[in-house]
Amino acid sequence: MKILLGEAPDSKQDSKEPIVRYRNVSKSFGDVHVLKEMDLDIAPGEKIAVIGPSGSGKTTLARLLMTLEAPTSGTIEVNGELLWHQIHAGKTMPADEKHLRKIRKNIGFVFQHFNLFPHMNILRNVSAGPIHVLGLSKDEAIARSQEMLRKVGLIDKIDAYPSQLSGGQKQRVAIARAVVMNPKIMLFDEVTSALDPELVGEVLTVIRELAAQKEMAMLLITHEMDFAREIADRIIFIDQGRIIEQGTPQQIFENPQSERLQAFLNRFL
Ligand code: ADP
Repeated sequence: MKILLGEAPDSKQDSKEPIVRYRNVSKSFGDVHVLKEMDLDIAPGEKIAVIGPSGSGKTTLARLLMTLEAPTSGTIEVNGELLWHQIHAGKTMPADEKHLRKIRKNIGFVFQHFNLFPHMNILRNVSAGPIHVLGLSKDEAIARSQEMLRKVGLIDKIDAYPSQLSGGQKQRVAIARAVVMNPKIMLFDEVTSALDPELVGEVLTVIRELAAQKEMAMLLITHEMDFAREIADRIIFIDQGRIIEQGTPQQIFENPQSERLQAFLNRFL
């Protein structure tokens, strides 16, 4: 009985199909091999932080998932569906736009540079996706967007335009705009690195609150080590296009195994 109880959470975890599955994924730009035979499964609701030196392939990993780039070889599945079709070994066929659009609905992303629509107010920035992509009625989209803007602390700014907001506020709108689509996974790529230091905290607070939502997976590329440690279930350390080490925050930060990870972490001490 004791053993059964002890094993239950693990076996439940194992039975969950991953929401994202990279298999043997490589990506080259000309002669530059940016990602090398990458395998990665992301479980539904799992919070992953990706750390590693600049130029190690972190953004490329995310761009492949966002379908902004196609892998040179290997496969990526989202929710059990292939992003790109490998017709013959080594030949990656572009998936048709309709297929990609359907898959992209599962994925939300926010980058370092917020690209809000400058000519739309904040409410319209957030509600445009629910109306035009999800096909919600205007009333429903507005109600959902208002609720989202309340969550990120910007309900009093719904009539403002992006140019009237601070960098931190704009980034919070960008997060609201992505999360309002109810994605199964959110990608955050160095979302605080372009912000003035005093604005970083408010954006991290919003991400922290979102991380408390059990059902949405997150892939967070970050140099904020304390934050990664706080919110991630799993930390992945990438160097030179490969996952060198991965584990719980405790394993990665308190007991790093490889010299490369030790050297990388020493830079933050
Ligand atoms: P990171 O996010 O870890 O800093 P990136 O994924 O942005 O790393 O980049 C990894 C490597 O790939 C870098 O050497 C970068 O110059 C190169 N790279 C990324 N995108 C392109 C591209 N579109 N064309 C050529 N090289 C690229």
